[in-house]
Amino acid sequence: MTTFLQKTADYIFDNYQNDLENVCIILPNRRASLYLKKFISERAQKNIWSPQVFAVEDFIAAISDKVIVDNVSLLFDLYNIHLELEKEEARSFDEFMSMGEMMLHDFNEIDLYLVNAESLFSFLSETKAISLWNLDGKELTPFQKKYLKFYNSLYTYYQLLNERLLARNQAYQGHLYRFVAENIAEKVQNISWNHLVFAGFNALTTSEETIIKYLTKEEIAKTLWDADEYYLLNPQQEAGKFLRKYSELWLDANFDWIGNDFKTDAKEINIIGVPMKIGQVKYAGNLLKDIYNEKGNLEHTALVLNDENLLIPMLHSIPEESKAFNVTMGLPFRHAVLYNLVDSILLMHENRIRLANPDRGQNGFYFKDISKVLSHPYLMSEFDFEGIIKSIGTSNRIFYDSSELIKRIQSSIPVDDSVISNVFLIWETPKDAITHLKGLIDRLHQRFKDEENRFLEDEYLYHFAKLLFQLNSLPEIHQSFITVKTFRKIFTRLAVLTNIPFYGEPLEGLQIMGMLETRTLDFENIVMLSVNEGILPASRSFNSFVPLDIKRQFGLPDYADKDAIFAYHFYRLLQRAKKVSILYNTEADEFSGGDMSRFIYQIVNELPKYNPNIIINEQLLNITATDSLQNKPIRIFKHENIMKRLNELAMKGFSASGLNTFVNCSLQFYFKNVAGLEELEETEETIAANTLGSTIHAVLAELYEPFVTKIICAEYINSMLPQVDGLTDKYFKELYKDGDISFGINLLTVKMAKLFIANLLRNEATQIDKISKDNALLTINMLEQKLECVLDCFINDDLPFVKLKGYVDRIDSTSEFIRIIDYKTGNTSQNELNLTEPDLLQSEPKFAKSMQLLIYALLFMKEHPENEKPLKAGIISLRNQTKGFMGVNYEGNDTLTVQNINAFEEILSALIHKIFDKELPFEQTENEENCLYCAFKEVCGR
Ligand code: SF4
Repeated sequence: MTTFLQKTADYIFDNYQNDLENVCIILPNRRASLYLKKFISERAQKNIWSPQVFAVEDFIAAISDKVIVDNVSLLFDLYNIHLELEKEEARSFDEFMSMGEMMLHDFNEIDLYLVNAESLFSFLSETKAISLWNLDGKELTPFQKKYLKFYNSLYTYYQLLNERLLARNQAYQGHLYRFVAENIAEKVQNISWNHLVFAGFNALTTSEETIIKYLTKEEIAKTLWDADEYYLLNPQQEAGKFLRKYSELWLDANFDWIGNDFKTDAKEINIIGVPMKIGQVKYAGNLLKDIYNEKGNLEHTALVLNDENLLIPMLHSIPEESKAFNVTMGLPFRHAVLYNLVDSILLMHENRIRLANPDRGQNGFYFKDISKVLSHPYLMSEFDFEGIIKSIGTSNRIFYDSSELIKRIQSSIPVDDSVISNVFLIWETPKDAITHLKGLIDRLHQRFKDEENRFLEDEYLYHFAKLLFQLNSLPEIHQSFITVKTFRKIFTRLAVLTNIPFYGEPLEGLQIMGMLETRTLDFENIVMLSVNEGILPASRSFNSFVPLDIKRQFGLPDYADKDAIFAYHFYRLLQRAKKVSILYNTEADEFSGGDMSRFIYQIVNELPKYNPNIIINEQLLNITATDSLQNKPIRIFKHENIMKRLNELAMKGFSASGLNTFVNCSLQFYFKNVAGLEELEETEETIAANTLGSTIHAVLAELYEPFVTKIICAEYINSMLPQVDGLTDKYFKELYKDGDISFGINLLTVKMAKLFIANLLRNEATQIDKISKDNALLTINMLEQKLECVLDCFINDDLPFVKLKGYVDRIDSTSEFIRIIDYKTGNTSQNELNLTEPDLLQSEPKFAKSMQLLIYALLFMKEHPENEKPLKAGIISLRNQTKGFMGVNYEGNDTLTVQNINAFEEILSALIHKIFDKELPFEQTENEENCLYCAFKEVCGR
């Protein structure tokens, strides 16, 4: 295979071998220049003066005498103009940023395509005015007037920005291209080479077209194009859209090189649908291994990543055998570990200002932000912040004062190490942010200095230092627009524009690159990832003030043009390749809906007909990682250690909650009770249901405590009412730890708890009044009582019995019966307590409350065999007190007899035997509704 750059090298050598130092070759990008120089030197086979090779933007900058300004400085320039034009109605810099970026994008495009900006913006503002024209003569609203004023002012922004740049001899890309194109006859004087060769271009902007046309007409430049008849000669093929135009328009263009590789060469194209990004990465790793095994190296092989997010995982999947590889695309700084740390710090400072509300006690740093910063791997690997993170995570405090936090942090770091604690100082100005972040860089640099393989960290730190330098170098006036709150936005913007270059073996081994970097390069083997609709071609996003129809009218590129550019890159890369693997993601994600690119449909339908030697194989890998987890049942067999643990549980005593967990799902029981997995204790930003329940139980226990074993009357109950508020506050403060209950939803929850308790007392007083009229006196027998018993439930010789235990909220009695009461803060319906088929207790989680009450009744009966009174076991729902006491109804009987309790004991015994049955592994419940509130969903893949 002769590549395009080899052909170019031959052309240069053949035509200018005696004048090579006076040749300048201009390519679409910088990437290919090394390859071209290598091919020229191979052709020369001796020491020669190398010709100059430029990327087009560098060539235009070189002949312009102007200095390119970065986008952030441009944005500040534009904001200055905004302040002057809008005066007191001006937006803050933060609000202006996205609008300003869109303006800069439009100005750049208008200039690149040499559009008359005045005509375009006046046309645009007129169309806007027409769209708001009220035929009935009604006056425009203030908002509509403002809208029109903005569109009327766009040209003024453009003009003022260009004037300022001109005065400083500066330019943005479009401005520079226009300047050179409009003055090419004069700028040609700056060209010191005798021969220019423009090679490998496709879609030229109007300014590039003007420049190249002039230079070719003046016979200073030649053009070399790379095309194949397949897409060039078919007017329907979008890949050839621009080259067809140039070959018609530009009659002197050198189109001698039109190839016919698609027609003549054999190719193997494998199209593979792979679920998820990571699936593609793993599969691509295997493909590279296959190529390596077949060829013995990965020379002439390109891995093309259409989604830059795959770069880092892909680097971990490159076969170890492939020692040499080169990454051309660069790692976006926002994917760096350091970016994550800095962003977390800036977010913490932004939220401190954004969430501040001193009236509500919201002052200081937000607890989640602090934990995120402290638990960053860079800090965690050096300091022991675990204690602080845990206490922040469980104290229920939402905001932390800077000085208090610093004191706590200082207790975990060396005395003279102030850099880390400075991160938690109050940063008043962006200067503070820059100073403390610079300190952090130095500190991290010291930290990594002695580590092996620290190259990546060094690169991160170097590029971050450059970003800070850029921000620090902004003129004073520009810095004054930034606040600590907006600092993060600007930092993010800069980070998005920053790529960390990789230095590898540029001419050796595997080449990893994005689609744009493939321009002018050819490879025998290609593995291409993320060839999905929405990625290749990219989805249509609109970030312009100029509507599409006006763009077309003025000759600016539209979606069809952008798609045609992608199509050219795709087909050009394929035209000389021998073996191509095209992978696409079959799962929808943030970029695409899981559809293969229409380019794949095109090649599948067209290429084998065009050339029968092109073999296309299609394959769909349809096992998703989620499927594999979901479909793979989890079964835990009861081997010796597990049986031992079960025996320990049985000796300690089973509780109602443990047994109900087993009924809900035996695997959940295993995770929670056998393996001892604990749910993470987390900060309750608002009072959680269990804290509410515990508080109410504690208040009721304290209120009723003085009356245990006494006959209770309405008067006693009424005497409790004044204590409700104080006790509720006291227990919330105790149980909600450092959480604030003085405002918002927490205040409402506290009020609700007080209301629940007061209502319960009032209802009780009324009930007591009623029953005392019938001479039935109510005695409080026990409160918060722990009950235990032993069940004769022979499991094996080691375990002839098991223990059962429980805490009963309240037991009271009248002369006729004994009541076992459980208070619930949630809703309960009588249906959950009606047991027409008691055997269902073993399998239906909906009877969990019945199970709990029956266990209490059984415990009571076992502990008090002397009792002869009938037993009622039920619930008082604090949320729905109109229903009063709701008792278990056992086979139609709302009073539990000894026979009922004995029958229940047998059911319970059968259930416990199931827990110990070695033939029954712990496994996932069949009913997925049971998983709704399970804390182990992620562990088990449900
Ligand atoms: S998620 Fe469902 S199946 Fe898995 S342990 Fe929990 S309840 Fe059982």
